[in-house]
Amino acid sequence: MENLKRLIRTIPDYPKPGIMFRDVTTLLRDADGFEQAIIALARPFETERVDAVAGIEARGFILGGAVADRLGCGFVPIRKKGKLPWKTIGQEYTLEYGVDAIEIHEDAIRTGERILIVDDLIATGGTAEAAAKLVRRSGGEVVGAAFVIDLPELGGLGKLEEHGVRCHALVAFEGH
Ligand code: AMP
Repeated sequence: MENLKRLIRTIPDYPKPGIMFRDVTTLLRDADGFEQAIIALARPFETERVDAVAGIEARGFILGGAVADRLGCGFVPIRKKGKLPWKTIGQEYTLEYGVDAIEIHEDAIRTGERILIVDDLIATGGTAEAAAKLVRRSGGEVVGAAFVIDLPELGGLGKLEEHGVRCHALVAFEGH
């Protein structure tokens, strides 16, 4: 995991002062790093029934698509408001830097389906919590949530677990 951590680029003060942006594009660019990240993200869920991976726009699409392929299941996009072409269910959430809303197609998940949420990073947990709400409001069951990066100081992982979501993160970084 130290190797994965080294492949993640840190950009200070992006997108605003005080934020240390953890950039996974450098990890994705590295064939071995990308492969190891996908294997590790999928591993705890390989022995479970997973009907689909729900990836959160945009970096969650790249990681979530590859995890879905590895688990042999389908992929459901969770997108920023106004981006999906069909009828949607929406959920507002507070981001580390702003307020936003995410949406899912209303027919993307069938009742009782077991869904794994994937994103690149969990900070305050607001985005992932909104994603879990969307899955549950769609009739799905959240199998878990997998992230490459956790920012433990922001407490998102604990908050998500309090909401009954089993969480899995590969590396942790100090700070915001
Ligand atoms: P949160 O809702 O606070 O858990 O924020 C998580 C979402 O915001 C993820 O989709 C991340 O990609 C993005 N994000 C938040 N903070 C950072 C950060 N420091 N570096 C990179 N991405 C971040």
